[in-house]
Amino acid sequence: MPKKRRSGGRTGSKGGRDGSVHCAKCGRLVPRGKAKRVTKFVSLVDGTIGKELRDSGAIVPRRQESSWYCISCAIHTHKVHIRSSDDRHKRDKIR
Ligand SMILES: [Zn+2]
Repeated sequence: MPKKRRSGGRTGSKGGRDGSVHCAKCGRLVPRGKAKRVTKFVSLVDGTIGKELRDSGAIVPRRQESSWYCISCAIHTHKVHIRSSDDRHKRDKIR
């Protein structure tokens, strides 16, 4: 039977159980391999003050924040997009 996705919609290795994570939006418990991780950089300083500091040549610290989303929430919030059959079978990174 043809597969819709090469990986079965999962990331990581083929076999065995993977851990679970909670969706950041709805709180649903999803397998780690099926959840989407979104990483963003958050500045520790407020917007306008940060811009002034950056213009004056200072290095403004940024913090890395990652959160996990279930597939429903990832699609609803436009973190990932529905792709055509051809796009799904491309071997580059999933976005
Ligand atoms: Zn969710």
